[in-house]
Amino acid sequence: MNRKSTMLRGTLGKGMVRFFAIDSTDMVIEMKNTHKTSYTATVALGRMITAGALMSGILKNDQDAVTISINGGGPAGTMVCTAFKKGLVKGYMNNGRSEIPPKDDGSFDVGGFVGTNGRISIMRSMGYGQPYTGQCELQTGEIASDLAYYFLKSEQISSLVALGVSLDKDGNVSKAGGIILQVMPGCSDDIIENLEIRSMMMSDISRQLEAMDLKDFIFALFYDLDINLTETTHPYYGCDCSEEKIEKVLLSMGEMELQNLADTQENTEITCHFCGKEYSFSSDEIKKLIKTGK
Ligand SMILES: [Zn+2]
Repeated sequence: MNRKSTMLRGTLGKGMVRFFAIDSTDMVIEMKNTHKTSYTATVALGRMITAGALMSGILKNDQDAVTISINGGGPAGTMVCTAFKKGLVKGYMNNGRSEIPPKDDGSFDVGGFVGTNGRISIMRSMGYGQPYTGQCELQTGEIASDLAYYFLKSEQISSLVALGVSLDKDGNVSKAGGIILQVMPGCSDDIIENLEIRSMMMSDISRQLEAMDLKDFIFALFYDLDINLTETTHPYYGCDCSEEKIEKVLLSMGEMELQNLADTQENTEITCHFCGKEYSFSSDEIKKLIKTGK
């Protein structure tokens, strides 16, 4: 089992605002180790899996999952993250080892890497029935503001979203974290203004977490807003692939395509996008799969 991150959930302002906050450092380190991502890719995909973990906090049942997909037309290519209510978070991007120059101020150009010419889409699967999917145009490619815009446009929820990944000089992850605040209907303008004033400190979350732990950060940030902590969970980065699941993927290709593989390939190699694990099926195993899969 991989090292777990800590996520807090609760309300502010006597229940008028709900929040999800995470120190996702361990998750982002594990993701970087898995994909050997470049500096900018580590920050981009790190923000995305942090967002996925935060959104899994909104899910209700154990078998529920949320998948965020972004394709902004930038060098990153397609980015996908799936987070399960039970804590598992996985993610990948097409070109995680490519790199682009930093912005003029020295910060990583996540928006330029992800691109803004495309959409963010969010699918919530409930374990049974049709999944719910919503999507909207990307705004900045910086991910946090795209997610806030998505909540507003697609779900009519006013939100503040902050996602941060800090790297040291060698490109190693020093801290990562994120926070989502969602305003409930009927919340007073005073509270909303009060939160907006603090959004600068929120957007600096990964650096703030260098100095204090997540709980102290939340209490320092919202000390006067009736903090009510309701849950602590421990998401972790990993993968749920298995031989059985890969067999299902093979079967979905159809009998003709499988027969073609069995006839022309001695071994069929399949690599899991999310974790890089390799699965190998011999020609005989493919033939057996065709027989039993019918
Ligand atoms: Zn896998």
